[in-house]
Amino acid sequence: MTDFTATKAMFHLPPGITYLDGNSLGPLPLAARDRVAGMMVDEWGQMLITGWNRAGWMQAPRRQGDRIARLIGAPTGSVVMGDTLSVKVYQALAAAIDMRPGRNVILSDSGNFPSDLYIAQGLIKSLGRDLELRVVPPEKVAEHITQEVAVLMLTEVDYRSGRLHDMAALTALAHGHGALTLWDLAHSAGAIEVDLTDSGADFAVGCTYKYLNGGPGAPAFIYVAPKHADAAQPALSGWLGHEAPFAFDPDYRPGPGIDRMRVGTPPILQIAALDAALDIWDGVDMRDVRACSVALSSRFIDQVEKHCPDLQLASPRDPAQRGSQVSFRFEHGYAAMQALIAQGVIGDFRAPDIMRFGLTPLYTDMQDVDHAAQTLGRVLDQRLWDRPEFRRRAAVT
Ligand SMILES: *Cc1c(COP(=O)(O)O)cnc(C)c1O
Repeated sequence: MTDFTATKAMFHLPPGITYLDGNSLGPLPLAARDRVAGMMVDEWGQMLITGWNRAGWMQAPRRQGDRIARLIGAPTGSVVMGDTLSVKVYQALAAAIDMRPGRNVILSDSGNFPSDLYIAQGLIKSLGRDLELRVVPPEKVAEHITQEVAVLMLTEVDYRSGRLHDMAALTALAHGHGALTLWDLAHSAGAIEVDLTDSGADFAVGCTYKYLNGGPGAPAFIYVAPKHADAAQPALSGWLGHEAPFAFDPDYRPGPGIDRMRVGTPPILQIAALDAALDIWDGVDMRDVRACSVALSSRFIDQVEKHCPDLQLASPRDPAQRGSQVSFRFEHGYAAMQALIAQGVIGDFRAPDIMRFGLTPLYTDMQDVDHAAQTLGRVLDQRLWDRPEFRRRAAVT
């Protein structure tokens, strides 16, 4: 059994704050401070350029990729780190399209995160091929999987509602129609049980600053199913994805397997922070995380519905149908969230009217959940949100 009291003690959680926004940015792992400082002083400071060899910086994106692979049911050697999630979506989508030359539809859903859709739109434009991005309602995806579809591109857990797609079933259906699948695990990795091997996914991508707690700007990851890894053509053919980067050959030749999805110099300081965050995950069983997340989110829904009759549940009520977040609709959701944050309970807001709360077992317990629901009840009962300063929109909501 995972000891969640022990994992909670491994984070810096500011006193007086109840943090239900780990689905946007995980909190600081205590060990990250020393890990990053040590990396700077002992490695960058002392070793200078020799750190690439002596401290193993060059292999770090593969090492960390292997640690994440365990959490998403992927084999060793199938995941590599780098860049941001939007860039990894581009790479995976470009490679998948390239593997289905006779087909012209990228199928996605209206619950997908806008950046994923924007990336698809930009890629279509630059390919200059007769490609269409077809966006359908989440519950209608299955019926739109046809022989026209080149790639089914979905985010497994809807960032707004927390609605969960059936990755294995949709992947099987897509394969039955000759299409490939690209799964975005932004709200899955570290949140729910994922088995990329069992589900048969072709490509997957995700970020590490949400549930995995790697810190703002932490690198993204990309997975390519081993059967495709030597065939997938890298659209961003940077030198570190080359077969022999230090041969400085003027012509690009893709590296073996997942290495070809590397692009340029890896963010070693960020990787040091991520390394400390992943140490915590080493002692964690994802089955325990899922069970605890279901208990926390179910309790949160009960308590919010008890204390806040004006809020409407925007997430599936059945825990098997949702990820590790719970959302509620409220007309004055933005102001109410600002007022709640002023009371020390941090969630976030997604337009037009969604108040969103992440439930993260590593550092959130039942007392936190009860306290958050009670505080939210007070904010609404006393109309604490109804003040001009809470209506003013900041750049990040
Ligand atoms: C958070 C998130 C992103 C963000 O992409 P970045 O490039 O890391 O800013 C993209 N897609 C999904 C589905 C997300 O949830």
